[in-house]
Amino acid sequence: MTSSRFDLRGKVAIVTGGNGGIGLGLARGLADAGANIAVVGRNETKSAAAIADLGQRGVKAIAVTTDVTDQAAVAAMIDRVVKEFGRIDILINNAGMSIRKPPHELELDEWNKVIDTNLTSAFVCSKLAYPALKASGNGKVINIGSMMSIFGASFATAYAASKGGIVQYTRACANAWAPDNIQVNAILPGWIDTDLTRGARQQVSGLHERVLARTPAGRWGDIDDFAGIAVFLSSPASNFVTGTAIPVDGGFSVMA
Ligand code: NDP
Repeated sequence: MTSSRFDLRGKVAIVTGGNGGIGLGLARGLADAGANIAVVGRNETKSAAAIADLGQRGVKAIAVTTDVTDQAAVAAMIDRVVKEFGRIDILINNAGMSIRKPPHELELDEWNKVIDTNLTSAFVCSKLAYPALKASGNGKVINIGSMMSIFGASFATAYAASKGGIVQYTRACANAWAPDNIQVNAILPGWIDTDLTRGARQQVSGLHERVLARTPAGRWGDIDDFAGIAVFLSSPASNFVTGTAIPVDGGFSVMA
């Protein structure tokens, strides 16, 4: 009885940036619970490897090559997923990037690129998926924020702005779409070992050790740390949970 509330068999999920990093960790969780997955990204080699990984878990996985900052491409992606699977139940807005510069050094085109990728893409994907999510009867949207949704590191100018925006956008959608039985929540990852943080670890001396010291769990996060929260927020088990922003950070955000 309890386990059926976490059962995602027959559901269809779109995971933007699902071809690597945290997105692949989220997609693996959904696939292990039975959901079919559309992986959205730009890099076809990474996407091919991701759908092979997901397919081994006994579900149907497809790759839809899409730049999420291109509205027409997102519309075509949504059409393709509906044609391929007949429905969309879960949308995870995970694609993201960062440009590490303080406010006085960041150029306008750099600001726009980060905001377009991290925040505007969530708006466009959610808006275009909304009719299918409503038709699902129990739609789920998960937006990926960050510790920078809460804090404001000096190097995270546009990144922090985009991730703060993700939380408020999540709350607005949760309010608007509750009558459609669509739940909208955000996940706020701590420091996770992915391509996104690899550059920072190489450039910023001592970062690796500082994260270990600052994180009560005493380790960096792994992409598979996201499987459980992905299943919970995608399943009927979370039907009374909406508008939240849940840290998955080994305690980073509660460390004094
Ligand atoms: P990665 O760099 O490993 O993955 C980012 C993913 O986003 C890639 O799969 C990439 O696919 C995709 N992507 C980026 N831009 C676009 C685009 N324009 N169109 C389509 N896909 C795009 O990063 P993470 O896994 O670390 O990050 C995933 C999310 O988690 C991001 O939103 C990030 O901000 C957030 N996060 C990460 C943290 C960390 O410590 N790693 C901490 C807090 C939040 P492709 O290469 O094919 O374009």
